[in-house]
Amino acid sequence: MQQALKIYNDTNKKIKALSFSGFLIGWDMQTEMPAKSNHGEQMATLSEMEYTLSTSPEYVNAINVLYQNLNELNDLLKHEIIVAKEGIDKLTKIPMEEYVAFSALTNDFYNVYVTAKQTDNFELALPYYKKIIEYRKKYVDWLKTDKLCGYNVLLDEFEKGLTEQKYDQFFNLLRKKLVPVIKQISKVSKNQKNKFAWAYQKFDVDGQKKFQEYLRDVFGFNRDYTVIKESEHPFTTNCTVTDVRITNHFYEDNFVSSIFSAIHEMGHGLYELQISPEIDKTMSGGGASMAMHESQSRFMENMIARSLAFWQTHFYKLKEIFPNQLANVTAEDMYEYVNLVECSLIRTEADELTYGMHVMVRYELEKAILSGKVNAENIPEKWNELYKEYLGVTVPSYSSGCLQDVHWAYGEFGYFPTYALGSAYAAQIYNAMQRDIDIDAEIRTGKIEKIAKWLKDNIHTYGSSKYSSEILKLATNEDFNPDYYCNYLVNKYTKIYNLK
Ligand SMILES: [Zn+2]
Repeated sequence: MQQALKIYNDTNKKIKALSFSGFLIGWDMQTEMPAKSNHGEQMATLSEMEYTLSTSPEYVNAINVLYQNLNELNDLLKHEIIVAKEGIDKLTKIPMEEYVAFSALTNDFYNVYVTAKQTDNFELALPYYKKIIEYRKKYVDWLKTDKLCGYNVLLDEFEKGLTEQKYDQFFNLLRKKLVPVIKQISKVSKNQKNKFAWAYQKFDVDGQKKFQEYLRDVFGFNRDYTVIKESEHPFTTNCTVTDVRITNHFYEDNFVSSIFSAIHEMGHGLYELQISPEIDKTMSGGGASMAMHESQSRFMENMIARSLAFWQTHFYKLKEIFPNQLANVTAEDMYEYVNLVECSLIRTEADELTYGMHVMVRYELEKAILSGKVNAENIPEKWNELYKEYLGVTVPSYSSGCLQDVHWAYGEFGYFPTYALGSAYAAQIYNAMQRDIDIDAEIRTGKIEKIAKWLKDNIHTYGSSKYSSEILKLATNEDFNPDYYCNYLVNKYTKIYNLK
């Protein structure tokens, strides 16, 4: 047992060092790397080294020994070994050549994908999508068990225990509760763009960056442990609680984009910064799941920063930075503008109410791809069809259609549904937090200290030392309940749009 524990800990140190290089390379690829550079070969070698280490006979044996003696381990280590055992069982089912080749494929694809999106050229991306889908189909076949097969294998990887059946129920509920509200709003909200013409002026990037620095102080995004840079798509990455990095993207003709992206990514970042340092040292560092992570970013972005209290508190600063553009604009106008409901094309720019529909398109499409009903060639056609059906919009280009998100280029299928699930977790968490804190009053102090502390104590501190379903239950005293999300959205938008 002692021997097994020593091998387990020593190997983890090496795995952590390797993932640290992966973290740095990934960060570099998206922020600093020259456009035509390619490090696919080195990345493939690193992933081969990681695979070799993680499947080495002594490491696997050590995990098996610890797994057989679970009852002698403390709770933290027990959970870690259960997760590690599951990971090993999976990894050893994937042939190493395939694992390494797939890593090289997605690396090569990244630059091609960026060009394909920029030049609106689906044909360029098509051969890669074909290979990625082929791999994912083989992957679910290698990993299938008595309990999980097909798309469920991938869904379970992103959110433990969530199956197609559960997601179908969740999305059906969203459709039932939200579509009538969306329809009512589209009837009453004509000419919204005219009403908010001030928002479509030019807001220079320097000013936007100034406001971003201001937001950093509001959200307590500690400069000693964080950096913010620029990339095509905003994202968060981290390796320890003392090194959390986020990016943003600035558009002069859409100034709110960088505001909400910054807050969204800081929400992810705060989660990582507030994990217990003791847990961070173990293999249970990092967030509990994709959905839980997304719940934290969307909580900050929507529940906090799309509230009236938030804009009544912070709009003065934006006005100070952009006095000409915002001369005749009030905090209430800003609140209305950032909660504008519009059936649109781009998921990341979507309002809170229609957001779930964007996710549903991707979920339905992934289901169809994994079951073989749709192949790579038909992605654009099926995509456009679903956008028409769920959002009533016509997709004019690949860039604003199926090429808009990078996830499939990374080979990630099963990821998208966690976005909607995370938003629903956020609403349940918001409800629970309100029992302990007057959230609006806290927002009006100009900082979010009590809110951040509540999240730290009830969610962040655990890292991934428990499953997200357990953390959600501990934090809210209840299993996942999507009613909170539906009610939150219906109430909020009924009020804003004066619906009956
Ligand atoms: Zn996110």
